[in-house]
Amino acid sequence: MTIQAVRGTRDILPDEIPAWHRIEAAARDLLARYGYREIRTPVFEETELFARGIGVETDIVSKEMYTFADRDGGSLTLRPEATAGIVRAVIEHNLMNADPALKVYALGPMFRRERPQKGRYRQFHQLDVEAFGFTSPTIDAEVIELALAYLDACGVTEHELVLNSVGDRHCRPAYVERLRAALRDRAPSMCADCRRRADTNPLRVLDCKVPEDQATIETLPRITDHLCDACADHFAEVRRQLELLGVPYRLSHRLVRGLDYYVRTTFEVTSTALGAQSSVLGGGRYDGLVKDLGGPDVAGIGFAVGLERLALLVPAGDGAPRCDVFLVPLAKAALDRALRLQRELRQAGLRAMLDPEGRSFKSRMKQADKLGARFVAIMGDDEIARGAWTVRDMARSEQQDVPEERVLDHLKEKANG
Ligand code: ATP
Ligand code: MG
Repeated sequence: MTIQAVRGTRDILPDEIPAWHRIEAAARDLLARYGYREIRTPVFEETELFARGIGVETDIVSKEMYTFADRDGGSLTLRPEATAGIVRAVIEHNLMNADPALKVYALGPMFRRERPQKGRYRQFHQLDVEAFGFTSPTIDAEVIELALAYLDACGVTEHELVLNSVGDRHCRPAYVERLRAALRDRAPSMCADCRRRADTNPLRVLDCKVPEDQATIETLPRITDHLCDACADHFAEVRRQLELLGVPYRLSHRLVRGLDYYVRTTFEVTSTALGAQSSVLGGGRYDGLVKDLGGPDVAGIGFAVGLERLALLVPAGDGAPRCDVFLVPLAKAALDRALRLQRELRQAGLRAMLDPEGRSFKSRMKQADKLGARFVAIMGDDEIARGAWTVRDMARSEQQDVPEERVLDHLKEKANG
């Protein structure tokens, strides 16, 4: 039996790579404009970090982590998300000392043992954006505007921003108790997940997707009606600034997000073009997290973009040509000249190729076509006798004789012109 990729993982094949390059280049370019620098942390960490940083009650920690015993008995976990590892690094290297307003981003694979389906994988990739040390609602609005600007930069236009505030340590506990109380007589008629969560993690009931539960959920108390003054003011200012910046949004009191650490602003961007797994990115504010993980008491806010889902939304490129010059040395004596010319063309920055197997003329012209070669340079016996290459401009279907000593400059000019 041949070995296949592990269930829930997928290969990103060369034909898909242009979309990925576009996504990655757009991230680097845009984030630099907003003052972010890249950080790269390991793909595995101590299990404890995620248990503490994400919350034991979450789906991620309770059932989705790839956790394994290290040979010396320690417990390690493949990162299911990037924030906890970044916070660990920020604390470990005292990054806040050097930069009390720290903006970082990371790109890389994440691992969650979920049920594989379209748009949901066990190894997937995220762009993760984090800003530490900012408490003002201005940064919430900036981060949200940045998330949308990023989708724009990737050519993705069909999407919706959903916004909520989940309160903070002062007002949320009382709200959660209200919710728990309201669920006491409602939960028994709800789905099994809701029945369990009504007790362990009532907030999670709000993002239940089971159709039969929806009407009941609508009758539950809404967090936005129970925010303390400070949270209500913060949220009002975030919304005012989004309006100022011309960023449209939809409020949803049910957007509580999967991780325990969020406070105040939470947001998500969805796209109907994605079908069932419609969430492209999600994020929010997590002011207590750095302190909880043993660092200074600094605020944090960020978001993570699912790159597989984003790649599905990126408009297909026009199949950019992969070859500038395809060399066709026909005569045996022409091969050495072609090899030298190929090297010089590559040094000059052009994508130059030839067929080292020396197949038939017809087959080589087919290869050139397949590669989208812009120019084909041919040298047979006649050309050797004349000391020239026949250079064919494929788009124009024109060809001309170019003396050997001129051919490098000629091709450079044509290809760059
Ligand atoms: P979902 O509601 O789809 O499960 P989530 O709330 O678990 O998403 P986050 O943890 O906020 O997602 O991750 C941010 C983004 O990462 C999501 O919006 C999604 O685009 C992407 N993502 C999350 N899990 C997966 C997965 N298993 N496979 C592919 N992409 C994923
Ligand atoms: Mg999830």
